[in-house]
Amino acid sequence: MADRDGKIWMDGQMVDWRDAKIHVLTHSLHYGCGAFEGVRAYKTEQGTAIFRLEEHTNRLFNSAKILRMTIPFTKDEVNEAQKAVVRENQLESCYLRPLTWIGSEKLGVSPKGNKIHLIVAAWAWGAYLGEEGMQRGIRVKTSSFTRHHVNITMTQAKASSNYTNSILANTEATDDGYDEALLLDNAGFVSEGSGENVFIIKDGVVYTPDLSAGALNGITRNTVLHICKDLGLEVVQKRITRDEVYIADEAFFSGTAAEITPIRELDRVQIGSGSRGPLTEKIQSAFFDIVNGRNPKYAHWLTKV
Ligand code: PMP
Repeated sequence: MADRDGKIWMDGQMVDWRDAKIHVLTHSLHYGCGAFEGVRAYKTEQGTAIFRLEEHTNRLFNSAKILRMTIPFTKDEVNEAQKAVVRENQLESCYLRPLTWIGSEKLGVSPKGNKIHLIVAAWAWGAYLGEEGMQRGIRVKTSSFTRHHVNITMTQAKASSNYTNSILANTEATDDGYDEALLLDNAGFVSEGSGENVFIIKDGVVYTPDLSAGALNGITRNTVLHICKDLGLEVVQKRITRDEVYIADEAFFSGTAAEITPIRELDRVQIGSGSRGPLTEKIQSAFFDIVNGRNPKYAHWLTKV
């Protein structure tokens, strides 16, 4: 990832990809306190556009606020940086990664006295859970790792350190031959995937865990809520048990990287017909219409670069 051509926006400047470096005594590298975003830009008929840029930047600033980090740039500057990175790297469609972290002036748990930094990188990234998974659905395993408790790590921050839990869950699931993990909260209710929110559909009603289950307030999750409303589908946010997923008619993950990925199996139990369900397909297709600029109702969610 480090050895390639291109430009990365780093603390206010465009630098060569290979020169975007930090010191080994960087505070965030030792203690894990940092925050990031995952954003996508899509090719539309009007040119390349970043999807829900403002919402992602707002979440980055909220994550920093929760972690008591003051980002030394304005939201406008961070938005402009993201547009500039896509342009500079001549990307038609891509994934963007803004990251803010604590510098290397001093170590010790207290971050006080360290500078806060910010980068934005962007690169081409296809279907996160595989092109085949988007069509046929993926195989998921309930994780033996519990999702964060809401008062242990801060679940509404997209904090770097939160992802150790995601890495453990994803590694366990993929080592066991599955595509992704489903994590339960500390009370045993369904929370989310290692990097995705989860939805199930039963008798035409769409269900997703409410955020008290420790799931991130996903921007794609919110997009799905809008899509369901447009399609006349009832959505219920509630506690969901793992066996409700087993007996659901359909299930899918949502996320910026994962987009809308159907789930065809949990713990070797086939969900519904064992392939992408008909309502999931409708929601997926509406999603791609929106991100690719084919639905004028949501043109305001697309920021041209
Ligand atoms: N949960 C977790 C743990 C995630 O990492 C992500 C990806 N950012 C999501 C949910 C989905 O969020 P979004 O739709 O905003 O990408």
